[in-house]
Amino acid sequence: MRPSQLAPLFVTVRSLKGVGPKVEGLLNKLVAPRHERAHARVIDLWWHLPAGIIDRALTPRIADGRVGELATLEVTVADHRPGGGRRGGSRAPYRVLVEDENGAALELVYFKADPAYLKRLLPVGSKRLISGKLEAYDGLLQMPHPDHVIAADSGGALPLHEPLYPLTAGLTNTTLRKAIGEALGQRPTMPEWIDPGLLAKNGWPSFSDAVVRLHAPEGDADLLPSAPARARLAYDELLANQLALALIRARLKRHAGRRLTRTGKVSTAILGGLPFKLTGAQTRALAEIDADLDSPHRMLRLLQGDVGSGKTVVALLAMASAVEAGTQAALMAPTELLSRQHLATITGFGAAANLRIALLTGRERGRERADILAALKEGRIDILIGTHALFQEPIAFKDLGLVVIDEQHRFGVHQRLALQAKATGSGAELLVMTATPIPRTLLLTSYGDMDVSRLDEKPPGRKPIVTRTVALERLDEVVSGIDRAVQGGAQVYWVCPLVAESELLDLAAAEERYAALRAKFGDRVGLVHGRLSGKDKDRVMAAFASGALSILVSTTVIEVGVDVPKASIMIIEHAERFGLAQLHQLRGRVGRGAAESSCVLLYRQPGSETARERLTVMRDTEDGFVIAEEDLRLRGGGEMLGTRQSGFPAFRIASLPEHQGLLEAARNQARLILAHDPALKGKDAEALKLLLYLFERDDAVRLIRAG
Ligand code: ADP
Ligand code: MG
Repeated sequence: MRPSQLAPLFVTVRSLKGVGPKVEGLLNKLVAPRHERAHARVIDLWWHLPAGIIDRALTPRIADGRVGELATLEVTVADHRPGGGRRGGSRAPYRVLVEDENGAALELVYFKADPAYLKRLLPVGSKRLISGKLEAYDGLLQMPHPDHVIAADSGGALPLHEPLYPLTAGLTNTTLRKAIGEALGQRPTMPEWIDPGLLAKNGWPSFSDAVVRLHAPEGDADLLPSAPARARLAYDELLANQLALALIRARLKRHAGRRLTRTGKVSTAILGGLPFKLTGAQTRALAEIDADLDSPHRMLRLLQGDVGSGKTVVALLAMASAVEAGTQAALMAPTELLSRQHLATITGFGAAANLRIALLTGRERGRERADILAALKEGRIDILIGTHALFQEPIAFKDLGLVVIDEQHRFGVHQRLALQAKATGSGAELLVMTATPIPRTLLLTSYGDMDVSRLDEKPPGRKPIVTRTVALERLDEVVSGIDRAVQGGAQVYWVCPLVAESELLDLAAAEERYAALRAKFGDRVGLVHGRLSGKDKDRVMAAFASGALSILVSTTVIEVGVDVPKASIMIIEHAERFGLAQLHQLRGRVGRGAAESSCVLLYRQPGSETARERLTVMRDTEDGFVIAEEDLRLRGGGEMLGTRQSGFPAFRIASLPEHQGLLEAARNQARLILAHDPALKGKDAEALKLLLYLFERDDAVRLIRAG
């Protein structure tokens, strides 16, 4: 249970003064963490960071004000002009004429005003400080709905600087600022969890002060990741992340590992039967894995390798080592389809070694299932392959020595860790495989202290994919090129742009391209998109796979799980709109067969600097790791959307790589804390638990409790 003093932070924003249903709806849209929950909570407002500063420094004279810009003026109220009748068909606004010392005039304009209120606010003859945006109407200078009106002699109640927030249509900065102000008012008193020495060294404010200062920037430096308030909160967030990971790791490591001593019998047989030689990277990864298995410590290792880098055979040989040592091994895949694919590959490669392999998914039921479970328990099965759901039910092995998890890159950190904990509950060694090239900077945030092996070398014989960037104006040339290629029997993917975050708009663009290509190529063109039923999708894909279709137009649905080795050309329209990781995934659909492959990135000029750089990166390298690092660099830490989708923790304040140094400090701190207080029971434990709850690492706290 979350500590009661945090309760006011985790209720919906509706609880705040001034937030009615309309504003609530807008805030849900703006600050509720997407994909996670629909309702904005008070704390979500805390983490909505200002992107700029409104400078309300006094504008000397009305004549110095500029249309379209903010002005802050000292004026005298000259006259009230109630709207009354109609002007141009709509009700005329209420206007208040004001003047400055030099006699220049300006109209304050109020639509739907309450005259009595305005008379009180702006009595004729009174001196007022006003601040707002200047506009011109009928040649007159106006200020519609000033942001601030205060008595000139009230002594500077007008804030000189105001935070400027990212907004959403319908929400004004003023409304949002007020709501955030209310949210800040809900701060409970918090103990300090950061070491006083570290606080002093960095000149960091307390947590509570930092939250306030986050929303009171006084200059551009306050908006930088290095600003003390931001840095302190980023550190807090990273510390929560690292502490949560460390707690889970500690739990995994609590079962001491065991020595799985290989004899080499099974793996030699497998190696002898392979139709290829292992790559250097595969050999290195295997040596690292075998060293882990052979040591008394428990293996917690991540095997990273792009699609096609040959992870499966490494997994098989690792499992062979476990089997040689007299134990069993399990391999889990995210989907049933992938489990079957693994079964086929592994049965093939493992044939020479007489391995006893079984498959267990949702499909094996009744008698068949009972038989498999019995055989597992009696040790008549060496390797069990199944889906992640496998470990949702209790399965008794005779002696499970190694678990291999083939990850889905969209897994969240917490799901991932829960799965690992469950699968290795009895103390098995753990190997996790991922095809997502993870930038080094992000590894720590999502995998903590796992050891890492990288397959950074593709099996030989792969032909490079020739990538070209071509301006959309030259579309005709591209189409002619395709015409020639198709005549020669080539098959082409044509991916249509991501227009908006709307599937319908994407679809319209794809349909348009489809119609245009169909006019030229006739019924050799197919269209596939996310709105087709599964069956229709399969039908179109099958036609493409069989060669009946030469060109497959699609929205980005082909990103996942399509394998047509003969297809050798990839056209990506409006490539400047895709993220690097996505372009990399898409391009990976070609270059799988014997033919020379190519990829054309069609772009619209002039793109942003970053967009151009992205395309250049794609043109210059096929290395997923390089692309991932560049992706992170170009996107900057601020915009973590792409990474959130791929299951990295979505930080609210921390941004990487800007806060890399803080991440490492947080890792060390987390280690130190647990070294002294493994069960989090000591004198600082309450503060640290609050921290975990504040940053919503609740499951880590539950783990301590279950400890
Ligand atoms: P991943 O799982 O990493 O995406 P796979 O394990 O499916 O990749 O391997 C991709 C393809 O490469 C498979 O057809 C596999 O048989 C083949 N392969 C793996 N290792 C080698 C190697 N050392 N030499 C040649 N081909 C290999
Ligand atoms: Mg694989």
